[in-house]
Amino acid sequence: MAPLCAGCGNPAQPGESLCAECENKVRQKQKNGVYRMNYANLARAILARANTLDTEVTVGDDGADHVTKIDDAQLLRCLARMLSGQAVKTAFGAPGDWGYESPIGAALHQDYVAARVAGGQENRTN
Ligand SMILES: [Zn+2]
Repeated sequence: MAPLCAGCGNPAQPGESLCAECENKVRQKQKNGVYRMNYANLARAILARANTLDTEVTVGDDGADHVTKIDDAQLLRCLARMLSGQAVKTAFGAPGDWGYESPIGAALHQDYVAARVAGGQENRTN
């Protein structure tokens, strides 16, 4: 199976951790003066670990360990997206994606609000 894009989950370009569309988004940011290193090999290795975690999740099991493994796999995917050059906000997405009541969703919401108040970060999600 072809490696999947760390940004969106579509097939990645050969030897890359992102698909062409996500790669273009990163390149556009670079043109605008926002350069982020693409650690493609590290991102692929971390994505592989996330996929392994997914296989360890038992269908129909909704216990705490199950939820923890799903969150862990998602966090590894966030890390892979950041290593592929995406901004933290793009990599983590909206607080509601995690659930505003979850620790991660609540933390994202607080940080996004703080960033908006400070005016130091863009408000777009991608
Ligand atoms: Zn992509």
